[in-house]
Amino acid sequence: MSARGNLFIVSAPSGAGKSSLISALLSDKPKDMQVSVSHTTRQPRPGEVDGQHYHFVSVEEFKSLIEEGAFYEWAEVFGNYYGTSRTVIEQTLAQGIDVFLDIDWQGAQQVKALMPEAVGVFILPPSRAELESRLTGRGQDSEEVIAGRMAQAVSEMSHYAEYDFIIVNDNFETALNDLRTIIRSQRLTAAGQIRTHSGMLNDLLAE
Ligand code: GDP
Ligand code: ADP
Ligand code: 5GP
Repeated sequence: MSARGNLFIVSAPSGAGKSSLISALLSDKPKDMQVSVSHTTRQPRPGEVDGQHYHFVSVEEFKSLIEEGAFYEWAEVFGNYYGTSRTVIEQTLAQGIDVFLDIDWQGAQQVKALMPEAVGVFILPPSRAELESRLTGRGQDSEEVIAGRMAQAVSEMSHYAEYDFIIVNDNFETALNDLRTIIRSQRLTAAGQIRTHSGMLNDLLAE
């Protein structure tokens, strides 16, 4: 097999800082990492751009994509559908680029079952009060939506032990460094290096 990227699954209760951490990680546009843009049936938030934050689709379109087998995984979260495009992640990994999935625990379980070498990272907020204040402070969801997401947070957080790594996002820079360390160490595992450098290893060991 030629060069192949690593697949990282990042989950967290809504408001823990998952999107902020992933966007900080990718802010200087590294060529070797990419976030997968999910399809969703939820309404765009102010400032969200179709094709950049999500591919925003109708419930009918989403269902026909399911029928076509277009999703690597999909799940219903907070009453909306979310799904990861199969071809995008397969093609990106095949180019040797690491892919980040910002997905919920249901999607994480599906991906782990399909690709056990995928690395799961769970982001926790330092406290419930801080989580609520971040959800409110983000100022992009209604009070009703925030209350629903807080109620869901405990059930999402109960899945932390299913992941390979846990980051507590208290100080943002520390959490970002933790995420970078996880990525770096994953790339350096023997399995990761073999995936990335298969051509070089063949040359080194050629008779
Ligand atoms: P935020 O996490 O509060 O910014 O809210 P989002 O609306 O961006 O995400 C809602 C939930 O859907 C989160 O738990 C995400 O991890 C999850 N999610 C987003 N995209 C996907 C996806 O493609 N597949 C799955 N399974 N879950 C997703
Ligand atoms: P998620 O994607 O997990 O729902 P966001 O990345 O949208 O979460 O973060 C939720 C809010 O919390 C945002 O307003 C973000 O700026 C803020 N935030 C994220 N991490 C921290 C942190 N370590 N300290 C304080 N605020 C944070
Ligand atoms: P939000 O609506 O706040 O953008 O996302 C809500 C939740 O949906 C987040 O926890 C996010 O990780 C999850 N989510 C976003 N995209 C996907 C996806 O493609 N698949 C799954 N399973 N969850 C997703």
